Amino acid sequence: MNEALRGLPAVHRLLGDPRIAPYVGSLGQDAAKRAVDDALEGARRSHPLPSTDAICQTIVASLERRRRESLLPVINATGVLLHTNLGRAPLSKAARAASSDLAGYVNLEYDLESGTRGSRYGHVRSLICALTGAADALVVNNCAAAVLLVADTFARGRETIVSRNQSVEIGGGFRIPDVLARSGSTLVEVGTTNKVRLEDFERAFTARTGLVLRTHASNFRTEGFVEDVASRDLARLCRSAGVVLFEDVGSGALVDLAAYGLPHQRTVAEVLSDGADLVAFSGDKLVGGPQAGILAGSRAAIARVRENPLVRALRVGKQTIAALSATLRAHASPEGRGSIPLYAMLGRTPEELRRRAGRYVARLGSAARTVDTWAYVGGGTLPQERIASVAVALRPGAGADRAARTLRSGSPPIVARIESGELIVDLRAVADEDDEIVLRALSSLS
Ligand SMILES: *Cc1c(COP(=O)(O)O)cnc(C)c1O
Repeated sequence: MNEALRGLPAVHRLLGDPRIAPYVGSLGQDAAKRAVDDALEGARRSHPLPSTDAICQTIVASLERRRRESLLPVINATGVLLHTNLGRAPLSKAARAASSDLAGYVNLEYDLESGTRGSRYGHVRSLICALTGAADALVVNNCAAAVLLVADTFARGRETIVSRNQSVEIGGGFRIPDVLARSGSTLVEVGTTNKVRLEDFERAFTARTGLVLRTHASNFRTEGFVEDVASRDLARLCRSAGVVLFEDVGSGALVDLAAYGLPHQRTVAEVLSDGADLVAFSGDKLVGGPQAGILAGSRAAIARVRENPLVRALRVGKQTIAALSATLRAHASPEGRGSIPLYAMLGRTPEELRRRAGRYVARLGSAARTVDTWAYVGGGTLPQERIASVAVALRPGAGADRAARTLRSGSPPIVARIESGELIVDLRAVADEDDEIVLRALSSLS
């Protein structure tokens, strides 16, 4: 029956309403029509009939909920540069362009010279080798997948030796003992929580030892009465025992971070030159690229891994390879590295950030002030490594929680943090070109 006869607005009228029409464009005709149908269905059952205005509001609220459920770009004003919940490393312009340019048919596994099947990994292998000094490399879905794959390759039905100070949980439920159990390997812990010596490893070697696993203590530090083995000594021991030494370094520094005012992290090249047979690291942490797990190491070790049928289940797609290649190419020079957003952010000086914050405060008036803060590299990577930063602090009349919620509901959403009842908008991870958007959103807070 005609809705108008029952005193309800017609579907096409609602879809054309200026408040609703924009959602037809962004969420699609079907989704918008479903929201309209649902609202009309609800209206039909109410007495008295709601006004057209009230029906529109119901529809907008439901479409807005839908919009925020879909994957959206957000502005990261948290001061955590590699925020796992916000997608870790933002991609460089070159990486974005590469992944969209290579979204169609590509020579992913096709050798154009011979017209026969080629290698999916050939495209990135030489870049990884050049940056790390590795003889060979492989890329899988993420670093967790790389660890699982290596354990499965070398230690299924065998033993994996891990020192007690490294039998850790990385976060997001990734626990070394659980991953080893899943790969069918028996965990053999050596040493104590605070101290491990070379003799501890030496005594643990048996005919069943398949792997020695070292994990980067990403998210905690031990201090005081502690002792660890030198990587080179452990490498020598593993080599003489004929056991593969595998280091899960997680963050994957390709450059000395001291240049950015952060403590030195062993680079992947250093880990390999210390004698590890295999190193695993993430593509979206200090590499500053897409989600991926990179395995670099000796020709023999990578060859064994490549034969594992799990490689097929953990493989990456063409867009990951495209974005990762573009990111790795940028790492070849300091200028290139500066085009990777993570390194552009790390390179911003406090003076530069203070000048930007000053512009915010000049526009926002007495409601805002500039504060010195700490930004964190973050991401379960180097969560404790901090770098001096600058933020705009506001004490909105409606309260900081409410203001933070308003910012999150904006378009694009802005994610800030709250400290002692103040809204803190840390500028280190906010791109300069987003300043105007953030400023406008902050000015409209009451
Ligand atoms: C982050 C991290 C991982 C997990 O990496 P994903 O790429 O998120 O799977 C594994 N090991 C270490 C040491 C890490 O820091």
